[in-house]
Amino acid sequence: GDILKKRKIAVLGARSVGKSSLVVQFIENHFVEGYYPTIESTFSKSINYKGVEYDCDIIDTAGQDEYSILNSKHAIGIHGYVLVYSVTSRNSFNMIEIVYDKLVNFCGMSQIPCVIVGAKTDLQQSRNRQVAPDEGEKLASVKHAAWVETSAKNNVNVGKVFELCLAEIEKRAPGAGAE
Ligand code: GDP
Repeated sequence: GDILKKRKIAVLGARSVGKSSLVVQFIENHFVEGYYPTIESTFSKSINYKGVEYDCDIIDTAGQDEYSILNSKHAIGIHGYVLVYSVTSRNSFNMIEIVYDKLVNFCGMSQIPCVIVGAKTDLQQSRNRQVAPDEGEKLASVKHAAWVETSAKNNVNVGKVFELCLAEIEKRAPGAGAE
């Protein structure tokens, strides 16, 4: 029997950027337009990454704004972060840096294992895009984070988000077991 590796991942970002839709697409493989209430919920899923089975808790937070005070449940016991903005919202992109800096302060570290996600790419055709891909990529490189663009609606790169997050966690704590 292998040690079951437990990983806790928190999903943060502005309200309505598509956090719940991303998590629900990943966990339940479906997309429901405008369905999810903005309450915090935790989902569990076993993820096989590079031949290792990870027992993951994914915490879908209610969403943050510039005045939100992050509390300890967003920092203590969390292994990795998924920070979501919508490519259709400049404000939600600006929130990423604010939330990242608050997390780093709260955790007392200079970096945290993190994936920055540009969501709702299926809406870009209608000239709704407000954040270019290279802006997302650049922010991620400054923050030593991974970056990916997704569409929960079309199920594009949804699994990739959580693989990248596990990769970021493993980079910093290779082989760590259950706690
Ligand atoms: P949250 O508040 O960040 O959890 O955002 P939700 O997941 O509740 O999504 C907010 C709104 O954006 C809902 O109406 C969703 O249906 C919509 N939405 C979420 N993801 C996508 C996506 O990938 N494409 C499109 N077109 N709409 C999305």
